[in-house]
Amino acid sequence: MNSKHDVLIIGGGPVGLSCAYYLLKSGRKVTILDAHEIGKGSGSGNAGHIVPSHIIPLAAPGVVTSALKWMLDPAHSPFGMKVSLDPKYISWLLQFVMACNEANVQRAISPLNSLGQLSAKNFAQLITEEKFDCSYQEKGFLNLYKNEEGFHAGQHEAEFMQKHGIPINVYDKSKVHEVEPVALSDVIGGIHFTGDAHLNPAVFLKLLSERVRAIGAEMFENTSVTGFESMNGKITKVKTNAGDFESEQVILAAGAFTPLVARDLKLNIPIQPARGYSLTMTANKQMPRQALILGERRIAVSPLGNLLRFTGRLEVGNYSQMPNPVWIQRIENSVREYITLDEKLDIQETWAGLRPVTPDGMPIIGRSPTHGNLILATGHAMLGLSLGPGTGQVVAELVNGQTPSFSLSPMRLDRF
Ligand SMILES: Cc1cc2nc3c(=O)[nH]c(=O)nc-3n(C[C@H](O)[C@H](O)[C@H](O)COP(=O)(O)OP(=O)(O)OC[C@H]3O[C@@H](n4cnc5c(N)ncnc54)[C@H](O)[C@@H]3O)c2cc1C
Repeated sequence: MNSKHDVLIIGGGPVGLSCAYYLLKSGRKVTILDAHEIGKGSGSGNAGHIVPSHIIPLAAPGVVTSALKWMLDPAHSPFGMKVSLDPKYISWLLQFVMACNEANVQRAISPLNSLGQLSAKNFAQLITEEKFDCSYQEKGFLNLYKNEEGFHAGQHEAEFMQKHGIPINVYDKSKVHEVEPVALSDVIGGIHFTGDAHLNPAVFLKLLSERVRAIGAEMFENTSVTGFESMNGKITKVKTNAGDFESEQVILAAGAFTPLVARDLKLNIPIQPARGYSLTMTANKQMPRQALILGERRIAVSPLGNLLRFTGRLEVGNYSQMPNPVWIQRIENSVREYITLDEKLDIQETWAGLRPVTPDGMPIIGRSPTHGNLILATGHAMLGLSLGPGTGQVVAELVNGQTPSFSLSPMRLDRF
């Protein structure tokens, strides 16, 4: 048994590490447990987009119809799902379908906007103060479109976001080619989210974990949480494969694995994994000037210093983290439809990661309704990197008994 800890964080991904950083800065003692290597989970191979513009949750009107349409074109579909009769999975799917409406979007906009803006501000400050060299670029990201239908739908969404204060430029064909010369001639327009940024997530997470260790965190890798003991509404013991831990406060930040880790706590945490893939290569002869999204294909292209990364696919329900070579090749093929690439790519890494997705597309941040010394920080879906530093700050505020920077009520677990 280790001596009693102050704040114990389960999970060293972008969310857990951000919580650790802001807790340490506020004077708390922090211990991080991770089943694997800290900073190497589902955050490291992602697109690296920091997107305060993403104020529309995954569960929104039209999503189910689009998903059904995409399934008719399986070779290009950005979306897939496991077929299973597992009651928890079916119940999650039903809740997701029920949440794909205007009321859910209206509920989510303000909290997602507050968390996104706070996170973007914290990213800029953290990277400057800590002098992190992680290819951080505040150039926004540019959506490219190849057909009128896609461009029109993109503009409709952009108008909606502009009304909520998101800075956006819409480019016609000649302007989009001036702004992004790597775009192929049949790209007909673009939408530029100018307030967004991107970075190399693996480098950022490595630097953040080194910094967190340097300012005092105790870090235990290959230490898998296997269960809990509770008494009188408090967690009294966190059980792991490397012994038991006791702590005043526990933060659960295990991403898509959160419901599995929390089994003993008998909490209803409706999170499903949504797998995605990336392939990373050495820089091409001609590199994009900014981060891109290939509008109709929903694929991200990220220039990361001397590397170039493509990411795509959202496959609900599967926990395996094996990159699927068929989809890696299809992602490359799709990118070739939009931008100039070297004939032969010098691929350095293929990767798969899991997005932790809730049925309403909003994270779960707040105190557990059943355990007084447990805080949940999870369910960030496709935005866990982007929303990490804001989540870290509000979790530190909660632990320290302060009023959070914005209202966390819409993100409480007991909304489900
Ligand atoms: C293809 C793809 C592209 C993406 N692009 C972006 C992007 O551009 N921008 C963005 O913001 N987000 C993006 N995401 C989403 C982002 O990667 C996730 O939201 C993020 O990783 C979630 O962070 P987390 O810290 O909650 O969980 P994770 O990153 O999953 O970290 C959880 C940690 O918990 C640990 N853990 C699990 N079980 C246990 C246990 N039993 N005991 C102890 N530790 C445990 C794991 O080892 C892991 O290190 C993308 C995801 C994918 C798959």
